[in-house]
Amino acid sequence: MTIETTNADTTAAITDAPQIGHWIDGAPRPSRSGRTADVFNPATGAVIGRVALADEEEIAEAIASAERAQKAWGATSIAKRQAVLFAFRELLNARKGELAEIVTREHGKVLSDAMGEILRGQEVVELATGFPHLIKGAYSENVSTGIDVYSIKQPLGVIGIVSPFNFPVMVPMWFFPIAIAAGNAVVLKPSEKDPSAALWMAELWREAGLPDGVFTVLQGDKLAVDGLLTSPVVQSISFVGSTPIAQYIYETASRHGKRVQALGGAKNHMLVLPDADLDLVADQAINAGYGAAGERCMAISVLIAVEPVADRLIEKITERISRLRVGNGAGDADGEPDLGPLISGAHREKVSGYVDIAVADGARIVVDGRGFVVDGHEDGFFFGPTLIDEIPLTSRAYREEIFGPVLSIVRVETFQEGLDLINSGEFGNGTAIFTNDGGAARRFQTEVQVGMIGINVPIPVPVAYHSFGGWKASLFGDAKAYGVHGFEFFTREKAVTSRWLDPATHEGINLGFPQNR
Ligand code: NAD
Repeated sequence: MTIETTNADTTAAITDAPQIGHWIDGAPRPSRSGRTADVFNPATGAVIGRVALADEEEIAEAIASAERAQKAWGATSIAKRQAVLFAFRELLNARKGELAEIVTREHGKVLSDAMGEILRGQEVVELATGFPHLIKGAYSENVSTGIDVYSIKQPLGVIGIVSPFNFPVMVPMWFFPIAIAAGNAVVLKPSEKDPSAALWMAELWREAGLPDGVFTVLQGDKLAVDGLLTSPVVQSISFVGSTPIAQYIYETASRHGKRVQALGGAKNHMLVLPDADLDLVADQAINAGYGAAGERCMAISVLIAVEPVADRLIEKITERISRLRVGNGAGDADGEPDLGPLISGAHREKVSGYVDIAVADGARIVVDGRGFVVDGHEDGFFFGPTLIDEIPLTSRAYREEIFGPVLSIVRVETFQEGLDLINSGEFGNGTAIFTNDGGAARRFQTEVQVGMIGINVPIPVPVAYHSFGGWKASLFGDAKAYGVHGFEFFTREKAVTSRWLDPATHEGINLGFPQNR
């Protein structure tokens, strides 16, 4: 597979836009590579920063610093590590408003939604504060006469995280609180599209008392990612992003002997049975289809209506769309809008292109968000909520991930037809069923080939003590994010068989295979 670098817009030019550097050895580190990428405020279209793109020297420096720091951190007592985690949680909780503003400025999502992602990330920090219980080993006394066996869980060492643009706080937090709690050092490579949240979190770790070098932020593009994938020091990779890159990460990191969890893209369907409460369904379809401008891996992008409810649903959804306000996520004189812009001009073109494809393939556009302009923000990357009916199942606009505020309606005659459609898709991240029929819901949860299922819940992101992960092209590897999977992923187990010699039980020389007696 050939994969292009993502940064079309790289430049060495020094401009007025602030440079956004790395965080290495517990301090900000300006870039020396001379390579940068533009960072935009998507609501205004203005360049608000230039993020460093690491070169090989900087990559090596970041990894070496993490390696040095990990040795001492891994040997630090559980009580001391736990104190740092509690301090981080308290600081985060007290100052999360600052972080939400950073997220909205670079990502574009509305402030309350930015706060929502921080709170979901904070849940994992809270889970991680209880790590002593979750990394305990097991002990079996007297497995053979005078012999005990026990297991201990140790940190992996230096671990790498590569995260996507759409959750610059929550997704890294799916991994780093648990990794750090377990005694690892983290090198985080955030998305180059919204790189500042990671630096803010690094500063917070410093304030919480985390030793220098245990949390590193390496800004960059494919070069930085490849540096992590191939480094013999880096023991594992936790990736979240699009499916082609997830597959590349999985294959490359595995080839270099690492543990990998690589979460990919999605195309989530919501199955609506005729007995469902259609007002509830319409509200939830709006929330899950258009929230964060559809830039969520758990967004609903297809609503499968089991007839005869499609027309009534379309009417209800259309009426609700007419009441949605699209605007600057930071808010304006009228308060906070319902949804903000897309991440970039290029992404808006891509989303628009998918609607063009749907039209060309014969779909009916009920509400068209193409060419949407917000007054006073004419250069922002806005795209209006879009509703598509009668989309052919062969259309790329139906089969592929659009990652924008585009909801398609598919009409089927039976539950089975809807279920089969979901199971025939490439992805298996999330899905939902809306019904009042418990038997149908139970059959759905048993037979659907998807990792996360909502029953009358449209975005079923599991709480921190369960684990997050899809099936099929939505997850490469066998470890999901956070929950028990997270603690398993970030620790390595040793089994110890021990005997304290007592002359009375010492049996002398015996070359046979050890047996239990
Ligand atoms: P992306 O795959 O373009 O980028 C993700 C990360 O990979 C970034 O840090 C990027 O710098 C890096 N990257 C990009 N191209 C690379 C290459 N050629 N080689 C090495 N590294 C590369 O994804 P994105 O656009 O930032 O995020 C959106 C995607 O993420 C969507 O597909 C969405 O569904 C997915 N996503 C999935 C989940 C999940 O839990 N399954 C969660 C959030 C987002």
